[in-house]
Amino acid sequence: MSPAPIVIDGCAVATMDGSGPADPGTEYRSGHVIVADGRIAATGPGPAPRTEGAIVVNGSGCLATPGLVNTHHHLYQWLTQGRGQQSTLFDWLTELYPVWARIGPDQVHAAATAGLAWLALSGCTTSTDHHYIFPKHGAGGGAGPRGRAGPGGGAGAFAEPLEAEIAAAAAVGLRFHPCRGSMDLGASAGGLPPDEVVEDTDAALAATAAAIAAYHDPSPGAMVRIAVGPCSPFSASAELMRESAALARATGTRLHTHLAETSDEEDYCREQTGLSPAEYAEELGWLGDDVWLAHCVHLDDAAVGRLAATGTAVAHCPSSNGRLGSGIAPVRKLLAAGVTVGLGVDGPASSEAVRLGGELHQALLSARSRDGDGPGALSARQALWMATRGGAGCLGRDDETGSLRPGALADVALWRLDTLAHDAIAHGPGGDPVAALVLGPPAPLALLLVGGNPVVQDGELRSTSAAAAARAVRAARSRLFGDEPA
Ligand SMILES: [Zn+2]
Repeated sequence: MSPAPIVIDGCAVATMDGSGPADPGTEYRSGHVIVADGRIAATGPGPAPRTEGAIVVNGSGCLATPGLVNTHHHLYQWLTQGRGQQSTLFDWLTELYPVWARIGPDQVHAAATAGLAWLALSGCTTSTDHHYIFPKHGAGGGAGPRGRAGPGGGAGAFAEPLEAEIAAAAAVGLRFHPCRGSMDLGASAGGLPPDEVVEDTDAALAATAAAIAAYHDPSPGAMVRIAVGPCSPFSASAELMRESAALARATGTRLHTHLAETSDEEDYCREQTGLSPAEYAEELGWLGDDVWLAHCVHLDDAAVGRLAATGTAVAHCPSSNGRLGSGIAPVRKLLAAGVTVGLGVDGPASSEAVRLGGELHQALLSARSRDGDGPGALSARQALWMATRGGAGCLGRDDETGSLRPGALADVALWRLDTLAHDAIAHGPGGDPVAALVLGPPAPLALLLVGGNPVVQDGELRSTSAAAAARAVRAARSRLFGDEPA
């Protein structure tokens, strides 16, 4: 028996059913959303038509939007928040690589449960993750699914990190697109990471293929899809990048990596290859409509044009870029060129707030703060587009999620906009609920549905215990740092 339909009635609705960020689509100041069989059955203005056997949700004072899509994350970093507080990316990585090498699959599970639960509470219904720590002899678990685990993994509940985080996503109830990341360019070969945290090239490729075989679900409405994710130009060899692209294209999976995050990376690429990061990516076969790239802060106009021409998408992570002082991505230019841009929280160690709802606000401020771009650089609705349809485009699911079009997956966020902070902006004279969501502080959730299943209700997780997740992640952090003083 299929579950009862759900009718959300009396709310503002922003469907994001338009053609692009300049035309985000239909909105209703007072309308309804009807969910049946895990999909959007209808949206419309005014009260909902009578729906037999439906559960009716009073949406008064709320705004319904598509659930938000997070396009860049490193869930394991929940265990190393607050470190390297004034470091640049390269210094911060150099401090943290040896710590991360000690994180085993069970600790990844605790971090992923906390991170995904927290994402759900900020309106996220689909998230990626980028896990690239698989030290050859360390706790990370170098082998593929069900294979040889590292010393930290053998005795625990999970054999390797992807298995652990996929289990966490299932328990929290989010749609999940983990990247099987990889690094094979240790310091002795000219890379940034120490040799002990990287894998052999062939082992990384074999484990990535095994992860695809074990977990990737290409079917419509899938809850888990795998992407292929060598880490960055300064930690993955050209061979690993090229072979990863070939593997992804042979298996119909998507490609993700970090690119053009800092000026240090730009200098590194030019020194090593004589090319800019974007030129190097193109030479490796890493521009295309099956690729989404994290950050893209340091792009010249020619690179923006190449991303647009090749259909390459961008995961924009404004809070992390601000935390590490990396710079501000050229979002106005990317959108004007037609590049698909999604939002990402990035890892909790470079973006401790990790609130996807908050990235709407931060994206707008960052775009407008970029030299010369000004208040026309990004509107509230463009920010919401990036967090929904843009994100779904990055993950290759624009036809399934990111909008409230009839037939789309019933991934819905119902935001409370009758709070002290939001009510006047949303509902006062000339009120604008989308502006209240983006310009105001992060709004609490009345309801979050993933495939029609309630994950958050009245601001509380329904699927798992936030208090238990907090206890587990604190215990995992204690195991990681031992007796180190707080
Ligand atoms: Zn990252």
